[in-house]
Amino acid sequence: MKYFFKISFFAFFFLMISCDTTSKENTDFTTLFEKSKGTETPEYKDVIAFYTKLSETYSQISMFSFGQTDSGEPLHLVVYNREGIFNVDEIKSSTKNSILINNGIHPGESDGIDASMLLLRDIVQNDSLQEKYKNSIICVIPVYNVGGSLNRNSHSRANQNGPKEYGFRGNARNFDLNRDFIKQDTKNAAAFAEIFHTVNPDVFVDNHVSNGADYQYAITHLFTQHNKLGGNLGAFLQNEMRPKIEESLENKGVHITPYVNVWGTTPEAGFSQFFDSPRYSTGYTTLFHTLGLMVETHMLKPYKIRVEQTYELLFSIFDFTEENSVIIKDLRSKATQEILANKAYPIQFKVDEEKYSDLSFKGYEGELIDSKVTNGKRLFYDKTKPFEKVIKYYDEFVVIKDVNIPKAYILQQGWHDIIGRLVNNKIEFTRFEKDTTITVVVSHIKDFETSKRPYEGHYLHFNTTIEKSSAKINFKKGIFILTPIKMECVICLKL
Ligand SMILES: [Zn+2]
Repeated sequence: MKYFFKISFFAFFFLMISCDTTSKENTDFTTLFEKSKGTETPEYKDVIAFYTKLSETYSQISMFSFGQTDSGEPLHLVVYNREGIFNVDEIKSSTKNSILINNGIHPGESDGIDASMLLLRDIVQNDSLQEKYKNSIICVIPVYNVGGSLNRNSHSRANQNGPKEYGFRGNARNFDLNRDFIKQDTKNAAAFAEIFHTVNPDVFVDNHVSNGADYQYAITHLFTQHNKLGGNLGAFLQNEMRPKIEESLENKGVHITPYVNVWGTTPEAGFSQFFDSPRYSTGYTTLFHTLGLMVETHMLKPYKIRVEQTYELLFSIFDFTEENSVIIKDLRSKATQEILANKAYPIQFKVDEEKYSDLSFKGYEGELIDSKVTNGKRLFYDKTKPFEKVIKYYDEFVVIKDVNIPKAYILQQGWHDIIGRLVNNKIEFTRFEKDTTITVVVSHIKDFETSKRPYEGHYLHFNTTIEKSSAKINFKKGIFILTPIKMECVICLKL
């Protein structure tokens, strides 16, 4: 029925380029995943063709195109809304529960791509599901890493148990997009930011597949670290959302556990929660008070089961969001005020080794055996020896570094890259209307170290120390002022 194309240079333009031409009865929406009995995932062009056809056939589905990715292809967003959506502004102004699902950030981890196709199709073809989710607007990025998806192969995830072919992890410029959310070196990340701030999701889900330790579960959840999300929203995530979704899945016969953050050892010794800093998807979405989680299915489990369990998890999330819509909206709206009421903002955390929860864990016994290809040993999980044990799960983090929240930051002219990112992220700022002299606190970089090897396009600095001084500075007209709260006096972080 409708397919909208959107060109974005901080403005919105829409063009309807097709109209209703097909009948629901004559169109077969069986997916390649189903036709292949759960062994194959479609190519990028076929995913987009599927959603194009779905949006042409069902008025409840719309597809929009946002900006560009590094591959030169646009980034798509598919939207389900019972009453339909005809332009992007309707997404922004909607008061419904907003859910954003990201797929194919690592295209070899295609479980979410297939699960999302099935679930949007099933919702529009089922009146009772439409009634159930009438208060939700469900937004799906069909494939985020378009360039990686186009680089299709069958060998870069050699040990993974399906699908037969898949895309490559790096994007068109070989960036790992799940390390690029806050720094936004890629066009993909800038386009994602635009989608994210358009949808302003109450709940965000990013679908992945994990390697590492072996265990009985086919699916794990990686909720954003709740202390970092902070306040009442963080407590709600930890005490309400996580247990309710686990319970919902358990009722459907799906066993799930926290992401098994274990490398080189076995889970029996206990493990800590994964800390998702803002370079990761959920770390980024947490900055804007969204309840986020990554889904990590396990690569050694059959593809069919992984996709089916991802599908069930997504429905459990929809159910939870519908049932808790009032409290989620309320907590999110108060979260900013909670932060501004504090004097400091945390910027570094570490796991609290004194606190842990008991986690009933279904694993396999592991042992070190001789490697057949090297002279060393390798970790072997014996599937004939399953166990269920209570292990220690360290999921409390404490703040080890914070910054005082200033009245404002001042950004000198010339820092266009930073201004570009502020604009992408809808950070509000003003400018000096005339030359202005004020006394400010200046932070000077006193010392830092630099890594010897580049990482994702940068030589990272660490162990940075600063020295503060007070100075009277004349700021020229037009210099940028970022104001977390109203300006009474100005504190300056000189960049
Ligand atoms: Zn991944």
